[in-house]
This record gives sequence, C-alpha cells and structure tokens, in this order.
Amino acid sequence: MSDGSRRDDVAADEQTKSAGDSTRAVHRGERDDQSSHAVTTPIYQTSTYWFENSAELRALQEGRLKRDEYGRYSNPTWRAVERKLCDLEGAEEAVLFASGMCAATTLFFALLPKGGHLVITSDCYRRTRQFIENHLVKLDVEATVIEPADTDKLASALRDDSAIFFTESPTNPYLRVIDLPKAAEIAHARGAKVVIDSTFATPLCQRPLEWGADYAIHSATKYLGGHNDLLAGVVLGSADAIAPVREAAGMLGGILDPHSAYLLLRGLKTLSLRMQKHNDNALQLARWLEANPAVKRVWYPGLESHPDCATARRLMRGCGGVVTFDLDADFDGTCRFVDACRIPYIAASLGGVESLIEMPALISYWDLKPAERLELGITDSLVRLACGIEDAEDLIADLEQALRAI
Ligand SMILES: *Cc1c(COP(=O)(O)O)cnc(C)c1O
Repeated sequence: MSDGSRRDDVAADEQTKSAGDSTRAVHRGERDDQSSHAVTTPIYQTSTYWFENSAELRALQEGRLKRDEYGRYSNPTWRAVERKLCDLEGAEEAVLFASGMCAATTLFFALLPKGGHLVITSDCYRRTRQFIENHLVKLDVEATVIEPADTDKLASALRDDSAIFFTESPTNPYLRVIDLPKAAEIAHARGAKVVIDSTFATPLCQRPLEWGADYAIHSATKYLGGHNDLLAGVVLGSADAIAPVREAAGMLGGILDPHSAYLLLRGLKTLSLRMQKHNDNALQLARWLEANPAVKRVWYPGLESHPDCATARRLMRGCGGVVTFDLDADFDGTCRFVDACRIPYIAASLGGVESLIEMPALISYWDLKPAERLELGITDSLVRLACGIEDAEDLIADLEQALRAI
C-alpha cells in the first residue's frame, strides 16, 4: 500500500512479473500510463498530443523528455498492448502494426540493404513470398527459398551478404516446426538475423526469442486478437533490434487504429484460456482424423506421425489450433465435405474462437495451375481446419457427418 487509498502499481507489477500465463495475460502491461484508474486501458482516440508550452516541446526535441508527440509515432493504448506482448514473448520491445503483412514488410524494409539477400522457406504465407518476389526485387534484393526444417540447406543457402533468415514456425499449411536453436546458430555464424513468424504458435506455445531468434513476428489478427474481429501485426525483439523497425514504422505509417488496439488488448486477456482450448481441440481432432479411413494423412506436430513431432516436443508447449489433412477424395469430393460441415465457417484465417475450414487449393492457390499447386505440395484434397474453442465432441460429430458427404 502506498498511502492507504490506492494500491501501489509498482507492487502489483512485482507481484505479476513472474506469475503464470493467465495472470500475466490479464494483468501485465495495463497499469502504467494510467491517470484515470480505469480497470481497462482507455482507447486514446487521438491523432496528436498537446504541449503545455514551447519549453516542453523543446525538451522533447532535445531528448530531455519522453512523451507522446504525434499519433503515427506512439499511442498509450498501443503501449499497453506492446508491454503485454513483450511480457508474454520475453521481448524488450514491440511495435504494433495495422496487419501481419505490414509487420513483415516494414521489418524487411528496415533490415534489408539495397541488393541484399535473404533466405526464406517454401512452406510460407503466400503473400510474404509474393512481396519478396514482386516488390523487394525492385531493391535488387535476392531471395533463396529452402525447404522448411532443412537446416543443412540453410547453411548452404546463406551467403556473406545474407541479412535475414525468415521463416514461419510452425509453417503453413504443413505445420513444419523449425529447429530454432540450430537455425539461429547457423544463421548467426553468417551474420544473418533470424526472423520467426510465430503466428501459428503464439507466445504461449513457443517463444522464439528464447531459442535464439532475433525477431518474433505475429499476425495478431489470428490468436492474439482471437475473435475474428480485427487485423493487426506485431514485431518483437531486443531494444536494439526493434529501434530500426520502430523508426521505419513511423515513416511508412502502417499503424494500428486505437480502437483495434483496444480490441487486441481485450483479446489478449483470454489468450491463455483460449490457447488451452485451441490446443486441446486440435490434438483431439487430429487424433480422430488420423484414425478415420476417409482421411489419407494428417499433419499436426502433436502427432507422432508428424515429421517434426520431436522438435515440437522440445520447443513447444502445445501445437496450436490448426490441423491440416488430405482426404481420400478428388477436388469435388473435398468440396462436398467442406460444404457439409455445419460448425466451421468456410473462410480464410485462423486463431479465432470460431472454427474455420478451407481448401488451400481453392482459397490461397487458385490462381495457379493444378500442376504448379502440386509442385508447392498443395493437393486438391488438402483441407486446413483452424479449430476454434467450440466443444471437441461437437466438432468431431460435425466432421463425422461431413465425411459421409464425400
Ligand atoms: C495471416 C498471416 C499473415 C498475414 O497477417 P495479416 O494480419 O492477415 O496481414 C502472416 N503470416 C501468417 C503465418 C499468417 O497466418
């Protein structure tokens, strides 16, 4: 107690610093910047901030004062989200963005020199690859694409001028899990920074920075927001690593609206609860699908049959809510199955409370010819199910009746 009328923020901070995931997801990051004593962090819906007088502005310009200046550079609602995410991810600093793509593209702009080189993995969010192929080429940036989880290939793909090794882990849609400590050792030996898109894992299942990565990035649109109601992104790392990213963000301007920042903050408070349910549902469904004769193959890192099960057990606590499977069916039969599902919505995305189902061939790769899709490993009978937080028995019953429609 500080004065008998109000509990001390510092004491609360101490109390929750080493607390469990749920306590930290609820409490961390919330009590600073707060003069109103609101239990929930206010939405600072402002584009700019006023100064007491010119002397105050001068103090800011001369670096003697730290405070908000303009809405493209900082916002107290963002800061609460950034602090909470730093705490969960084990990072010193975080920068929020308007979307996951904006987080990745700003990071690339910040880190890649003209004519630079990066290594990425093939099993990767399609738009990230397209950004590299369509836009970074204009800076004469070259990319080498390697198979995920192939750390030997990583060693030979890296060059002296490689600035970045970028990969998802787990990857999309085959949920390959990268051996992060090994990848970090190999990349660092060549002077490249390791950037992990950890969207499919969330900081509750995997903390890439603790395994040697320089940056963790997320599409906060997915689990972090968690309710299919906002788009956001975040880049996290050490203070030194984040400084150039924050600078680029303030210039490129892909910033998060304060309303969405508030929704993200609200979503984060239940992250631990939600992830337990996502993880449980996905594991139960993966096991059930694997035992079903209508299913040719299931990819889920929590299954012994997944090539990266051992790596996942070492690096992850729970494998997230996405299960990918190949049906014993043709394209039309797979459509009939998806159409017959009553609980999951047919929709792109993942990580929300509602289950979503999609055929990667139809939703992300439809512009390619079937042979080109196959080359990327995308079969016509591939299904990606992003388990929500419904009851597993209900999801299983729904899939069971839908499989009969093939
Ligand atoms: C969705 C997603 C993105 C892109 O994020 P947006 O918030 O949609 O811009 C990037 N990486 C992964 C792994 C994703 O799932």
